Amino acid sequence: MKGIYANVIVDISHEKVDRPFQYRVPEELMGQLEAGMSVMIPFGKGNKLIKGYVMELTDTPEYEISKIKYVDSVVKGGVSAQADSIKLAWWIKEHYGSTMIAALKTVLPVKQKMKQVVKKTVCCLVDSDTAFSKSEEFEKKHQTAKARLMRELSMQPMLPQLLVTGKLNITTQTIRSLEQAGLVEVTEENVYRNALPDTTSNRWAAGGKKQLSVEQQKVVDSIMEEYGQGIRDTYLLRGVTGSGKTEVYMELIEHVIALGKQAIVLIPEIALTYQTLLRFYQRFGDRVSVMNSKLSPGERSDQFERASKGEIDIMIGPRSALFTPFARLGLIIIDEEHEASYKSETMPKYHAREVAQEICRMHEASLLLGSATPSLEAYFQAKEGKIKLFELNNRLAGGELPRVYIEDLREELKQGNRSIFSRRLKELLQDRLQKGQQSMLFLNRRGFAGFVSCRACGHVMKCPHCDVSLSEHKNGKLVCHYCGYETPHVTKCPKCGSKYILGFRAGTQQIEEMLLKEFPQARVLRMDADTTKNKDSYEKILSQFANEEADILVGTQMIVKGHDFPKVTLVGVIAADMSLHVGDYRAAERTFQLLTQAAGRAGRSALPGEVVIQTYQPEHYAVVHAANQDYEGFYEEEISYRDLMMYPPVANMMAILVLSNDELTGMAHANELADAMKRQFTKERLYVIGPAAASIGKINDIYRSIIYVKHRDYGMLVRVKDEMEALIAAKEWNADTVQFDFNPMSAY
Ligand code: ADP
Ligand code: ZN
Ligand code: ZN
Repeated sequence: MKGIYANVIVDISHEKVDRPFQYRVPEELMGQLEAGMSVMIPFGKGNKLIKGYVMELTDTPEYEISKIKYVDSVVKGGVSAQADSIKLAWWIKEHYGSTMIAALKTVLPVKQKMKQVVKKTVCCLVDSDTAFSKSEEFEKKHQTAKARLMRELSMQPMLPQLLVTGKLNITTQTIRSLEQAGLVEVTEENVYRNALPDTTSNRWAAGGKKQLSVEQQKVVDSIMEEYGQGIRDTYLLRGVTGSGKTEVYMELIEHVIALGKQAIVLIPEIALTYQTLLRFYQRFGDRVSVMNSKLSPGERSDQFERASKGEIDIMIGPRSALFTPFARLGLIIIDEEHEASYKSETMPKYHAREVAQEICRMHEASLLLGSATPSLEAYFQAKEGKIKLFELNNRLAGGELPRVYIEDLREELKQGNRSIFSRRLKELLQDRLQKGQQSMLFLNRRGFAGFVSCRACGHVMKCPHCDVSLSEHKNGKLVCHYCGYETPHVTKCPKCGSKYILGFRAGTQQIEEMLLKEFPQARVLRMDADTTKNKDSYEKILSQFANEEADILVGTQMIVKGHDFPKVTLVGVIAADMSLHVGDYRAAERTFQLLTQAAGRAGRSALPGEVVIQTYQPEHYAVVHAANQDYEGFYEEEISYRDLMMYPPVANMMAILVLSNDELTGMAHANELADAMKRQFTKERLYVIGPAAASIGKINDIYRSIIYVKHRDYGMLVRVKDEMEALIAAKEWNADTVQFDFNPMSAY
């Protein structure tokens, strides 16, 4: 490519982001332009010269060549923050496959500048006595409104205009005429819609700082030493909940701020609790700002504006906070980095960890990942020496690790116990009720897929090609969500011949009912998608439980996050299998994470904790290692499975989702893509799996077909994506959409 044409987007801070306009690159600039560069271009009918940003260079003209104008010149003076954003958007587009506009919208969530909220204050320009005598003068002239305002001002020389026009019922005209008379002045001040709890004062700043433990200090010192030497790197901090990771983050941030830099802290939305935020405010006062999904566009715009003006040093928030326009970014921290919510579910389907790495590269910042159960991706990089690993091995807030029992549900069945509670769990629940302590029952259900397993021997029906669990469809067929392999409904276990081979389904509501049947005196709270539909209901249930208004909390994985409950001494996992067999390659990893976290909920105070994990597969390595809190052991087994099956992070996987109004057309297009890939990439040994109908084959009347492609090299998959995009562009598949997803978090 020579780059004869430049697709340019006009200066985004003044114009609405719309679409790129094509310009010709003049001879003297050929080979000098790059995406993200600012250029001057003649625009509109009058050919007024305005600034624009180069989106991409291409050899393909989009208009009649004679009508394409020339780029005027390159803007001197280097790369601006906006150009950075464009570069990042470009990287996202290239790396994940999406349109430039979608990528731009991702990195620039503030589409238009929102009107500033202005606070107006009416100030008295004369002293109190004069003001009072003026008010009497006005009174005599029956100018009661003026009289009223001057009287108020004689008592209080500054009044918010809103109060004056509101409560005092004085028109702006009256104020203006007093202004003209030189008696008052209206001052204006920009106020930012603030997302914080009320932290207008600095009184919290510098509070709450802890003397770091030796372990913590070592992490801070190592990272800051490198930082001081100009080394920017990615670090992984592995430490169980309560081992003091957040304290380490804050200390690092303080150092980085002292060097004149700024920091972004990502935490999962669900962990954006008042308690967490308060710790940051106590330490850093109003130099902190927060993003969350509940912010209005105006609030979001204000937060970004404050950030770009350098009025704050720290932005805390979920995935989207990554795009805070800090000019002096020095550090990004991603807490709970293994969380699936760091992967975007909409186009572009980017992963915050990867984008953070790219942002850090662009800004010469460092990246710190923290987790008790790091993602296989992060740990793999650590093992490969691409990330530096630190560990915190002790809990600081006290509390021994709980005792864990694995209860074999096959054994329960043999003994004639058909309830969903094992004998051990029943006994321990009874015990806690008697002692007045609290319990949590955890249903680690994920997604929609029902797997089929044998209650007698634990055998799970799996895909012979993909080594993931098959899912039961309504028609009784068992289907693989990767390759579409199907097998008819089974009535007898192929391993032991038992007829107890069934789909596995149990809901939180069902468990709540069973609990009440078993323990009529128990006070039970339930937390799941149903009971947390309303705003604030999540926090409400948690605080009810924290206030000991219930004995048992039943819920899905949302109950294992966030809050500490000192009175909880028993955690029960109803069936570890539920997340173990969801039919995608990350099932074991997710189960290990959930079980480890769930176990970590018990015994957070002086009271010792116990954990009961019920399962049909007590020998499964995810269960065994979680029970022993043995991350390393789990990692070794899991990574060899990934390696063998060519799953990420050892290899890479790209999902291609074809969306169509018509089932047959969609499938035909998917087939066409699959065939093209097989044909064009035989030499490269690309693994093409499918196409198959996605596990949710139809959403809102749109049919979904899916192809998976595997290769060791990510770059190869990007190439495949590019070629498929070109192929699609050449066809006329108007009605169909094709989405790419690199290393998807779950099966489609
Ligand atoms: P994590 O982020 O790993 O869950 P935190 O940083 O929240 O851990 O620390 C857990 C608890 O221990 C918190 O209550 C915190 O205030 C306390 N803590 C952390 N570091 C120290 C320290 N060096 N000295 C005393 N208490 C600490
Ligand atoms: Zn069996
Ligand atoms: Zn399969």
